[in-house]
Amino acid sequence: MIMKKIILSFVGLLFTYVSNSTAQCPNDKHPHAIDLGLSVKWACCDVFWGEREEALKTPQRYMWGDVVERYEYYDLSKTPSTSDYPYINKRAYDSLSWTEQSDDDIVDKLYTFIGKDISGTKYDVAHVQWGGKWRMPTLEQFEELEKNCKIRGKQIIGPNGNYIELVFTTDSPRYNHYYWTSTLSKERPSRAYAAYLTRSEFNASDCYLMIYDDKLHGFNYIRPVCY
Ligand SMILES: [Zn+2]
Repeated sequence: MIMKKIILSFVGLLFTYVSNSTAQCPNDKHPHAIDLGLSVKWACCDVFWGEREEALKTPQRYMWGDVVERYEYYDLSKTPSTSDYPYINKRAYDSLSWTEQSDDDIVDKLYTFIGKDISGTKYDVAHVQWGGKWRMPTLEQFEELEKNCKIRGKQIIGPNGNYIELVFTTDSPRYNHYYWTSTLSKERPSRAYAAYLTRSEFNASDCYLMIYDDKLHGFNYIRPVCY
């Protein structure tokens, strides 16, 4: 199955000079909302439970729309159930003819529709776990980040010189660290958009909502935004 790249954008060198950035967090009481000079503020860290230092040692990732921390990936040899992922459409799963359809068509029927965009809803882990004005970012907000910020190492530097840090990825697609957006794929209901950072640029792809078969992209990081 092909991971179709929806967007492959190069980050323009909009800002040839970036002033010296300083540490963005005023204290240890994370998360903080960092003003990058964009339409929303971005969190200083990913969604975490408990102490941030612990979370950083074992980064927490989520399936799309899932607001529960899961310590184990589901067993790929078993039929997935709603205890593995709450939006499995069990009836559709059981009634599928696995031989007559392409993989994508099969996968598209496996999930219950929970919305074209889940930002701010009960399916938004940032909103549920952190409360207040925290939300999962939409695809549009990630695109704004991409278009207006400069990358330096792990740092995403905003127009005003402030920065956040995202999980750095290798250049191997297998090990990319994706960040979920709140936006469902326009092409496939079994996928939602996710963004990742390589050494020089942002990319956005559509990822599967949960682990399926050998697709390892169901579990992704969440970097909240704040209004
Ligand atoms: Zn912070």
